[in-house]
Amino acid sequence: MRIIVDMDEVLVQFVDEVLCRWNTLKDTRFTRDHIDMWHMEATLGPGSFEKITEWIAEPDFFENLEPMPGAIHGFNTLRQDHDVVIATSLAAGIENGYDSKRRWLKKHFPDFDHKHFICTSRKGLLKGDVLIDDAVHFLEDWWNNGNNRAITFHAPWNRVEKNFPRAAKWEDVLSIINFWEAHDEFDKIQRQMETAKTVELVEKTLDHVDKLMKPRRFIPVAL
Ligand SMILES: [Mg+2]
Repeated sequence: MRIIVDMDEVLVQFVDEVLCRWNTLKDTRFTRDHIDMWHMEATLGPGSFEKITEWIAEPDFFENLEPMPGAIHGFNTLRQDHDVVIATSLAAGIENGYDSKRRWLKKHFPDFDHKHFICTSRKGLLKGDVLIDDAVHFLEDWWNNGNNRAITFHAPWNRVEKNFPRAAKWEDVLSIINFWEAHDEFDKIQRQMETAKTVELVEKTLDHVDKLMKPRRFIPVAL
């Protein structure tokens, strides 16, 4: 499968870094649970938009962000078996975001092919089998462009999203992908069975089903 993976809040902890800086600056106690809207400045209050814009313009801001829990192992597991593309959006006017994000990828996935790294604000226009994202507007864009498989990476700001299955952690992402893979395999087998003309072909197909029923390869994710 070609799987399109978002960066901020799927691979990378963006919100936690911003909250940490804002809480230190303003002596507040905001946590992720308080951020129930996409534009976090609506929750943080006056001056936060300007401050966040200033922080993300730092040349090494994205490069130094922490990975999401389980993301390194989960992403490495995913790319063993799939054509994985990273699609991220960049805030307008933040020119160094592209380089800083690429350096983050280099640091955590040194052998990742950067031809599979895309910056776009229209993820619905990409061609793939699955999108993994936390942003409701990107998931809606994906859905509105005729794609019916995506995974909503759970966050307080995307609770309203109802079209797609929800992953609370990377382990859930792998389980959902494994389920879809198995579903597609069974679909294929069913079609082969329907058109099989010989006993030999039916037996071969049944043997394949038997192998599929054996536990699928799954590496538990350390959280
Ligand atoms: Mg995101």
